[in-house]
Amino acid sequence: MIRMRKAMKWAILLMGMLITNEVAMAAQGEFGPSNPFYAASSLPFQAPPFDKIKDSDYQPAIEAGMAQQIEEVRAIAENPAPPTFENTVVALEKTGQLFVRVMLVFNGVTGANLNPELQKVQDIEAPKLAAHQDAIYLNSKLFARISAVYKERASLHLDAEALRLVEYDYLQFVHAGANLSDADKEELKKLNEEESTLSNAFTTKLLSATKNAAFVTTDKNALAGLSAAQIEGAEQSAKDRKVGGYVIPLQNTTQQPDLGELSVRATRHAIFENSWNRAERGGADDTRETIARLAQLRAQKAKLLGFETYAAWKLEDQMAKNSAAALKFMDALVPGATAKAAAEAKDIQAVIDAQKGGFTVQPWDWEFYSEQVRKARYDLDEAQVKPYFELNNVLKNGVFYAANQLYGITFKERTDIPVYHPDVRAFEVFDADGKPLALWYCDYFKRDNKNGGAWMDVFVNQSKLLGTLPVVFNVANFSKPAPGQPALISFGDVTTMFHEFGHALHGMFANGTYPSLSGTQVARDFVEFPSQFNEHWATYPAVFSNFAKHYKTGEPMPADLAAKLKKAEKFNSGYALTEVVAAAELDMQWHTLPASDGLKNPDEFEKDALEKTHLWITYVPPRYRSSYFSHVWSTGYAAGYYAYLWSEMLDDAAYEWFEHHGGMTRANGDRFRQMVLSRGNTEDLGKMYAAWYGGEPPVEPMLRERGLLPEDGAK
Ligand SMILES: [Zn+2]
Repeated sequence: MIRMRKAMKWAILLMGMLITNEVAMAAQGEFGPSNPFYAASSLPFQAPPFDKIKDSDYQPAIEAGMAQQIEEVRAIAENPAPPTFENTVVALEKTGQLFVRVMLVFNGVTGANLNPELQKVQDIEAPKLAAHQDAIYLNSKLFARISAVYKERASLHLDAEALRLVEYDYLQFVHAGANLSDADKEELKKLNEEESTLSNAFTTKLLSATKNAAFVTTDKNALAGLSAAQIEGAEQSAKDRKVGGYVIPLQNTTQQPDLGELSVRATRHAIFENSWNRAERGGADDTRETIARLAQLRAQKAKLLGFETYAAWKLEDQMAKNSAAALKFMDALVPGATAKAAAEAKDIQAVIDAQKGGFTVQPWDWEFYSEQVRKARYDLDEAQVKPYFELNNVLKNGVFYAANQLYGITFKERTDIPVYHPDVRAFEVFDADGKPLALWYCDYFKRDNKNGGAWMDVFVNQSKLLGTLPVVFNVANFSKPAPGQPALISFGDVTTMFHEFGHALHGMFANGTYPSLSGTQVARDFVEFPSQFNEHWATYPAVFSNFAKHYKTGEPMPADLAAKLKKAEKFNSGYALTEVVAAAELDMQWHTLPASDGLKNPDEFEKDALEKTHLWITYVPPRYRSSYFSHVWSTGYAAGYYAYLWSEMLDDAAYEWFEHHGGMTRANGDRFRQMVLSRGNTEDLGKMYAAWYGGEPPVEPMLRERGLLPEDGAK
């Protein structure tokens, strides 16, 4: 899963920010040298001076930062001298330093430690940030200069990274429509507006549809199997909605969490039907017309921009490059995934038959019976394993240890570096030769004012041009222990720590000249590769045995418990992969329609798309149905849902490469760092991977890792 927020140079993530109608307030207070963002921080690594930053400092700094960058961009665009790499492309890289300085800290703090005052600044600034981005990308004088440098690039004697930057900048502008005629720009604007209106309409409809499709009952017996606390929760949900009885609200996926416990089949069936048909019940909440038009207008938009399909436009700057590559990859997953799912269905059917159920397994039975298979087969109790995973020990003897073994880096806690909350810890990271490399913070415990999930981001971007070293942080939502108690975490949490630290390594090893191409600022289908790759070391024997020790006795985890833990990871993997591939196929099929096609009937289109990819399987519906697939209709994953699986292919192949080359060695680590982790987006990502790996990434390691190859799979 993507647990990372990208730190972008200009485009600040607006998703999730509330845009209010409130009239923009005048910046609070003056902006001058007394503002801690006024100049680069004098702390080590230019770390944010959290001991000096007040909530009221952000807004004036953001506004001054935008004004300053607009002025800097204007000076480049209006420069009377002929455009050169230095006076245009490099000059653009140097713009907005104040803006980036404050926004990276603002994003970090609002994500992890929000308060009403910061929320207010966020609401006021969100529309201004969007306009700020437009003001740069739609500046036609600026684009003309970038375009001129781009056309001359072959004769400019640029080094590879500089050449990549010229091509990257040019593509960013063209991708946004900078190359179109004025008439086509107007047309594009209209389509963009309609897309944004329809996306918003989809979100509103789906929100209401999901709410209205909740399961409601006055019969407590219908909820048999749920715990007393879950039933109490259902009663509370009913009260909140001012209805009698019990309410089970829907989650965004097709499958619903309570289906694993509900023993009354009719209840499971009803909840599933509500979920599956939530946005297809006619009336105001029905999303089908909206998505049909969205798919059509995206195809029209792509055509205007000179592409056959929307996917072709969307994927041109991704590692996969085109939809054919993504589709070929997904097709390769289907046989193994569906065969494993069929084997799992057989196991489940055996349980149903043994209990004299008298029916064939349906999607609404899957979770309920697979839970029983899981318990019978693994008998794994979380309470048994947690004492072996004490957070501090996992961090030092697991996460840091693995990084030290692979890359030679060492860590020293810095209690003198100011932090934004007492739970945050800061570490200085030293390279193998003892030189300072980066600053890394962790903020692991759950708080009410923190976003859910876990992520990595930066406070300072690495750049040789700007003379900055990386300042990186990881955030998570682990349960905080009572004072004086150890923080015992689940194996899932351990994996999360390795995952986010993988992103952190990608940021900390960054060694680029230009900030736009540095660190984790890579394509969506590549960004989860370093993080998922780092997860593998959590179960690497030499690492696992170094950290999985009882917090009281120091005894290593018993071998049979460790084996169960690792085996249980692959359980239900056929179902899990099939439902994701089905959703990814749906996404790609919707976005490879030609502009000449008429409006589609979503139900017919969906059935057809799944049938022709061999994914129309009664007991494994797609993780999201088209009519409630918000990733692709409203949150930016259109023609991009495959990226989750693509990154998995990259990381499983990479780990196998290590295994075949001696495993966890400094030589292997240093080579990977030099050729991949330090390179950011400074070269074509496909070529970067192939140069390191020795060819294209194969899909077999991923299938093997998921237990889906015939020799170890279908049983
Ligand atoms: Zn991630």
